[in-house]
Amino acid sequence: MTETVAIVKYTASPNSLKESIELSDGFKGLKPSDSIMIKPNLVAFDDQFPIAPFGVYTTTRLVEDLIICLKDFGCNNITIGEGSVQLKKDMGTFAAFEGLGYKTLEKKYGVTLVDFNQSKTEGFTYHDEHQLHIAKEAVESDFFINFPVLKTHGQTKVSLGLKNLKGCLKLKSKRHCHNPESGLEFSFSHIADFVKPSLTIIDGIYALEKGALHFGNAYRKDLIIASRDILAADLAGAQIIGYAADTIDHFKHYSKRTGKSLAMADYEIKGEKIDNHIQPLKWDWTWTKDNTGPGIFEKLGVTGVALPKYDETLCSGCSPIANMSSILALSAFKGQPLANVEILNGKKMQARPGYDKTVLLGNCIIKANKDNENINEVVIAKGCPPSEDDVVAAMKSAGLDVNILAYYGFMKQQSEKYNGKEGYDQEFFTA
Ligand code: SF4
Repeated sequence: MTETVAIVKYTASPNSLKESIELSDGFKGLKPSDSIMIKPNLVAFDDQFPIAPFGVYTTTRLVEDLIICLKDFGCNNITIGEGSVQLKKDMGTFAAFEGLGYKTLEKKYGVTLVDFNQSKTEGFTYHDEHQLHIAKEAVESDFFINFPVLKTHGQTKVSLGLKNLKGCLKLKSKRHCHNPESGLEFSFSHIADFVKPSLTIIDGIYALEKGALHFGNAYRKDLIIASRDILAADLAGAQIIGYAADTIDHFKHYSKRTGKSLAMADYEIKGEKIDNHIQPLKWDWTWTKDNTGPGIFEKLGVTGVALPKYDETLCSGCSPIANMSSILALSAFKGQPLANVEILNGKKMQARPGYDKTVLLGNCIIKANKDNENINEVVIAKGCPPSEDDVVAAMKSAGLDVNILAYYGFMKQQSEKYNGKEGYDQEFFTA
């Protein structure tokens, strides 16, 4: 049977979403009595430097439209579940629900909000030896609606339907996905086998370049992509933001295992033509040729310090720390070579020879380098992840005169970068 993907221009609520569901036959098999789980992408929340929501979060507007469509169908047992990355104390999933209008949806429509990080889980084995623990509510719902955003990702190139399911995992399993042995994309490509989404809707009101958090560039696209087939939806989304299927490893893993085609020609497209909407978006930042820091280091003439590019083993807990250390290193630069220091993160990087000091950020990288003979003098920031204060202290102790205020200034600027810009409407993220 040929699977269908609907591509619809967003023009009005809730009609555009309704059209995408009708074209994709998205409610096929749904019964009014079913328990429904909606899984948006509310990746992480921060009240100190609020993440500009465009292209980062599923729009609250479309989630509300979906609830309206479900209610019209007669469904009343509707749950919204997510397991956001906790960047700071008390900044978990419920902070995201609160900050993005979901508490209003709860009151207005009687939906239930669930924090998957607090859920009981069910364990599933993949590839004979690895375990994924998935929130029970996600596995046990009758009709799971996967609701990602049209965005790129610094480790996996795109973050669409398959990647969005990672939010259903217990924290330990999220971290396990970043293990150096089985690899990130191979690991999370299995979650769909156990969660079995009935419908995937990609929210493309905004699309995000260089995602997935604070530092990306969002573009207004006004598209909704819907399919009962998760891979079909992802293939269409990826093609629209400029990625061929065979360049995305998790697509290849999923396709190989399920036998589903990676060729868009094998799926039926209804609605808009993909070719009319293609806008290639970059997924990554440039890095120096000798892997000593982001491209901006070369541009500004920063030398001495080395920050190799983060790899796929860096999990979401340490990812803000990796970005922070780059910005802090820049803050220490006053036109002269910086201290001869290498700064490592993630789970598998190995210290290179030739540095006076090596800074290791986080418990994983400390363990990975415990016997590394290239290290002359080690400075560590313990923690899983380490605290901001400990990262600053470690960099100072390694001889870098870093300024945390420069980091705060940069984060504030990122929070406010769309303010007053036409088309960037905060109303999409309120109910
Ligand atoms: S130390 Fe960092 S990379 Fe390691 S598990 Fe903890 S948060 Fe992830």
